[in-house]
Amino acid sequence: MSKMDPTKVKNEEDEFIGFASLPEQVHRKAVRRGFDFSLMVLGDSGLGKSTLINSLFLTDLYKDREIPDTADLVERTLTTVKKQIEIEEKGVKVRLTIVDTPGYNDAVNAEDSWKRVVSYVDQQFQLYYQAESGLNRKNINDTRIHCCLYFISPYGHGLKPLDILVMKKLHHKVNIVPLIAKSDVLTPKEVKRLKTKVLEDIKENDINIYTFPECDSDEDEEFKEQDKALKEAVPFAVIGSNTVVEAGGKKIRGRMYPWGIVEVDNPKHCDFIKLRQMLISTHMQDLKDITSEIHYENYRAESLLSSEVSKSNRERTKLKRDSIANLDKALETEQLLQEKEAEIQRMQEMLAKMQAQLQNNPNSQNGRLGNVR
Ligand code: GDP
Repeated sequence: MSKMDPTKVKNEEDEFIGFASLPEQVHRKAVRRGFDFSLMVLGDSGLGKSTLINSLFLTDLYKDREIPDTADLVERTLTTVKKQIEIEEKGVKVRLTIVDTPGYNDAVNAEDSWKRVVSYVDQQFQLYYQAESGLNRKNINDTRIHCCLYFISPYGHGLKPLDILVMKKLHHKVNIVPLIAKSDVLTPKEVKRLKTKVLEDIKENDINIYTFPECDSDEDEEFKEQDKALKEAVPFAVIGSNTVVEAGGKKIRGRMYPWGIVEVDNPKHCDFIKLRQMLISTHMQDLKDITSEIHYENYRAESLLSSEVSKSNRERTKLKRDSIANLDKALETEQLLQEKEAEIQRMQEMLAKMQAQLQNNPNSQNGRLGNVR
């Protein structure tokens, strides 16, 4: 066995300055700080939003939820409900905020409902904007909505007019990920047909849903395949369940029917696994980046622009006030000019009278001019 030359090792180490450890430092700092992620679920009530969230994060976030009766539904206006949980996996903490909008479309006045949703999203931008211009910029609690899971009814034939309206109100503010809710009520063929129709509706109405970033060309084949499958699954057809059932001696999350069990986690039964992978494992940071770099920047630019416009409006009113002062001055000058002109005219008249008198009485050249006034 050959012995290592100690001087050679030393020389190699000397060649490193040390910045290669930077990613590690960033990683450690980010892990210590933890991650904020806010998810909004939107869609008609009863489409399985709460169930899906529980299935996604393996929790029971809605155990104390009260199901409103019909009279309540008519009376009720929309309230956004925020649930916060902290999940930890291998030392990495994610502070998760789920914004549910129970009553969206329950209230008779649907317009009121979606306006509240839009204003909620705006409010979070505003809070961040204010915090960013404040003193404690380092510890901003980021409540901006990073992703909106939009639940589409499996019973319809594509997007409803209200879906189109709400998506169009939100698509420049938030990353919309469309889902076909309760897809177990449809056959695979029906799911495929509905997906195609939803995509057509999205395209026809110029709705910008979240687009997955291009996969790096140097990624391995397996990753590329996964990425392709994710993209092709949009809108994700999902199934949610709060119950664990037994199948073949294994405990699984699923829905038990007289004819069999629908497994939430089975990729042959639905796209739940793909959605979870996208949302949590592969695209969470991209959703945050798009929120921050595109949606929030749009909001910031609009805010700056509107404050500029109001400033220039103020300037214009100031200008008007200035011009009123100038107008007063101009009027004063005009009056002075008129007075001077009148005086000159009086003097010219006087001069004319004197000349006339002189012509009539040439002898009085050296005498008194008399009263010419
Ligand atoms: P939300 O009002 O949108 O939050 O809907 P919930 O999560 O409360 O679900 C309403 C009802 O639909 C409940 O009885 C659920 O058990 C049921 N449900 C939820 N998810 C699914 C699903 O994927 N398929 C079917 N068939 N039913 C579901």
